[in-house]
Amino acid sequence: MSPNEAIDYLLDPIGKRDIHDDAIELAVASLKKQNPVKIIIKWDKHYCKNESCCGVCGWYVLNYERYCPSCGQKIDWSKDE
Ligand SMILES: [Zn+2]
Repeated sequence: MSPNEAIDYLLDPIGKRDIHDDAIELAVASLKKQNPVKIIIKWDKHYCKNESCCGVCGWYVLNYERYCPSCGQKIDWSKDE
């Protein structure tokens, strides 16, 4: 199911019971990505420096990116006290 198909269902669900579960599953997965996840720091052997990475998929994220460019996860840049 595409995101647009899920949106169409959620806006007008009457008589479309067969695709209910798929639409809800996709909507929940999308909403979960809006809960910020802290970055993880990985040592990059090639460049000999720490790199910030997505806490979900591990992809490199730059310090101005609010969302992971790979999986779309919202990034939490706050530091632990
Ligand atoms: Zn990611």
